Amino acid sequence: MALDLTKYIATVPDYPEKGIMFRDISPLMGDGAAYHQATDTIVNYARDKQVDMVVGPESRGFIVGCPVAYELGIGFAPARKKGKLPRKTIKADYALEYGTASLYMHEDAIKPGQRVLVTDDILATGGTIEATIKLVEQLGGVVVGCAFLLQLKDLHGLDKLKDYDTLVLMDY
Ligand code: AMP
Repeated sequence: MALDLTKYIATVPDYPEKGIMFRDISPLMGDGAAYHQATDTIVNYARDKQVDMVVGPESRGFIVGCPVAYELGIGFAPARKKGKLPRKTIKADYALEYGTASLYMHEDAIKPGQRVLVTDDILATGGTIEATIKLVEQLGGVVVGCAFLLQLKDLHGLDKLKDYDTLVLMDY
C-alpha cells in the first residue's frame, strides 16, 4: 500500500522568520519506506524520458536527485552556491526576497545535447529552479523534466515552468 507522504512533512510555523511556514522534509528522508516511495515515483516519471543526467541545486536538491540518478544508473551534477566548486564554473543569478543570489555549475558538468532531469525538494517562487535550468541550458543540456517533492501553490512557481514537463508529489 502506498504511504501518504504528507504525513512525513513537518510544518514549522515562523521558521526561519515570522510568517514563514517551513515545510521540513527531514521526516520523509528519515524514513526508509517514505524516502524510497518518493524516489521511486520520480524514477518512474523519468524512466521513459531517456534522461542522461540529474541536476539539483544545493543542498536539498541533492537529497532528492542523487538517489534518482543512482537508481537510473546515470550521473548527478550539483548546482552550488558561491565558492563551493573548485574548477571553472558558469553562474546564474536569481532573485531572493531581499536581493539576489547566484548558483554555479562546473563548465564541463553537462555535455551539449544531454537530456537532464532537474530536482529539488520544494518549488516555492521557482527562482532557484529557474537559475538551475538556466545553467543546464547554458551548457547545452536539454531539460526534459523537473521533479519536486512538494510545491507551495500560493507562490505560483509552476508559472515559471510552463515550458517544462514537471512532476510535483505533494501540493501545499
Ligand atoms: P524558490 O527559489 O522560491 O522556489 O525556493 C526554493 C528553495 O527554497 C527550495 O530549495 C527550498 O528548499 C527552499 N524553501 C522555500 N520555501 C520554503 C519553505 N516554506 N519551507 C522549506 N523550504 C523552503
